[in-house]
Amino acid sequence: MRRALSLALASALFLAPQFATAQTPTPNPRLNALKAEAVKEIDAKAKMIQEIVDEVYSFGELGFQEFETSKYLTGILESNGFMIERGVAGIPTAWVARWGNGKPVIALGSDIDGIPQSNQKPATAFRDWIVTGAPGHGEGHNSGQAVNIAAALVVKKIMERDKIPGTLVLWPGVAEEQLGTKAYLVRAGVFKDVDVNLFTHVGDDLATGWGNMPMLSMISAQFKFKGQSSHAAAAPWRGKSALDAVMLMGQGWDFKREHLELAHRSHYVIPDGGDQPNVVPSTASIWFYFRERDYDRTVALFETAKRIAAGAALMTDTKLDTVIMLGSAWRAHMSRPIAEAMSENIKNVGSPVWDEKDQALARGVQRELGVPDSGLRTKPRPAMTPEQAAALAQMEGTGSDDIGDISWNVPTVTLSYPSNIPGTPGHNWADGIAMATPIAHKGAVAGAKVQAMTLLDILLTPKTVTDAWEYFRNVQSKDTKYKPFIALTDQPAIWLNAEKMAKYRDEMRKYYYDPRKYRNYLEQLGIQYPTVRKIVQ
Ligand SMILES: [Zn+2]
Repeated sequence: MRRALSLALASALFLAPQFATAQTPTPNPRLNALKAEAVKEIDAKAKMIQEIVDEVYSFGELGFQEFETSKYLTGILESNGFMIERGVAGIPTAWVARWGNGKPVIALGSDIDGIPQSNQKPATAFRDWIVTGAPGHGEGHNSGQAVNIAAALVVKKIMERDKIPGTLVLWPGVAEEQLGTKAYLVRAGVFKDVDVNLFTHVGDDLATGWGNMPMLSMISAQFKFKGQSSHAAAAPWRGKSALDAVMLMGQGWDFKREHLELAHRSHYVIPDGGDQPNVVPSTASIWFYFRERDYDRTVALFETAKRIAAGAALMTDTKLDTVIMLGSAWRAHMSRPIAEAMSENIKNVGSPVWDEKDQALARGVQRELGVPDSGLRTKPRPAMTPEQAAALAQMEGTGSDDIGDISWNVPTVTLSYPSNIPGTPGHNWADGIAMATPIAHKGAVAGAKVQAMTLLDILLTPKTVTDAWEYFRNVQSKDTKYKPFIALTDQPAIWLNAEKMAKYRDEMRKYYYDPRKYRNYLEQLGIQYPTVRKIVQ
C-alpha cells in the first residue's frame, strides 16, 4: 500500500492552505554537525545501498517465503556487529537485529516481500519478464531495508565514537502484502522496550505525515467449505459441491455490497475451486480482504461474511469447514512530534538530483501507462500542517498496511522515499521497472539521509521521545485503545505462497544479482538504461 497515501497527501495539499510548521527547532550546533557528517557518510554508502536494492530485487520473494532476502540482510547486519534473533514470532523469515546499549531504543522497519506475477526487467518501460509468470518486486519492497541498514550503520559509527547511549533494532515487514505478520511481532513483544519506531516505505516522493492515515483497517480471512465428491455426469445427485458454496458466498457478498457503507472495501479470490470438471468438488475455498475505517466496523464486516458463508453452506448441503484469519491490520496513526522532526530533515535533504536518463525512463513508463508524463518529482513534500492532517484523517482511505498495529503500540512514522515513478498503478509489473535502476538507488540514498538525521534527532534530543509519548498517550490513544484483530489462538499463515515460490525459485536463482561480477543488476542483465519505446509521431 502506498500509492493511496501519496495520492491522498497530494489532494490534501489542495484542501488546506499552507501554514508554516508549528515547531521551530532550537539551534543545536553539535547535532547539526553530526547530521552533516551523517549525510556525507550516507553518500559514501551509495554503492552498498545500490547492491542491497539490486540484490533483493533479484530475489523477488513472496510473503512468508523471503528466505534468501532474510539470509542476505541478516548476514550484512551480523557482519556489522548486530545480534540477530531469527524465526521471531514463529515466522521463519522474520528476524530482529539489535545493537547498542540502553535508551532510547529505536526500531527501524521496512517490508521485504513481493507481488505475484510482477516479475519484470528493470529499466524497461514496457511489459518484459525476466522469468515469465514469476513473482517480483511490483511494489518496491526491495528498497526499504537498504535505507534502514545504511542509516543504522552510519549512526552506529557515530554512536560508538562519541559514546552516545542508545539501541538500534532493525526488523523486516514479512508478508506485508498479506498483512500477515506485524500484529504477531507486536504480540511477540518485539516493540515492548522500543521508544520510537521509524518505518520506511517506497514512494514517488520524499515525505512523511502524522495523525490518522488515509488507510483502512483490514481482516484477511479464508472460508473453506467441505462437500462430497461424485461423478459429475454419472451421479451428480450424489455430489455436494463445495464450489457451489464458494460461488454462492461470493454472490451473496456481492448482493450485500449494495447495502454496505460506501467507505468499505472488500475483494476476494478463489484459491481452491476444485480439481477437474468431472469430479464434484468436495473442497473449495474463498479468500476475502474486508476493509473498513476502524476496528468495530471491520469486525462487523467479518461477522456479516460469516453469516453469508453459513447461508451458502445451508443452500448447498455442504459444511463451512474452517474460517482462518490469514492477516489483519489496524488503520495507522502516525506520531506528530516524530513526523515534524523528520519533515525538517526532509526539507534539508531535498529531492535527489535526477538526470536526463532517469527522467526519460519515468516519462517512458508514464506514456506506456497512459498517465500524464510529468516525470519524477523534483521537490520533496512540505511538512504536513495540522489542517492537512485533519483533512487527511477525514478522508476515506483505500489500502491498508499492518504498520498500523505497531503504530498503536509505539510512536511510529513512515518515511516515504522517492525510489519509484509517479503514476504507476501499484501491485503491478510497472511498479517494478524503476526498482533496480538509478532512480531507486538515488531515492534510497535520500531516504537513508533523512532516516539517519532523524535517528540523531531522537538520540540527542530526549524531548523528541517524551513529546512522542505524550502525543501517543494523550492525543492518539485518548479515545481509542488497541486490541488486536488476531485471537490468541491465531497463528501466522507461514504456509502462504510456498507452492508459488517453489514453482519459480530455481529459474529465478539463475538471475540472482552477483555484485562481485557486475557493477549493477542492469549490467548483469545486459539492459540499456533506459530502454523506452520510441515515440511514434
Ligand atoms: Zn507496501
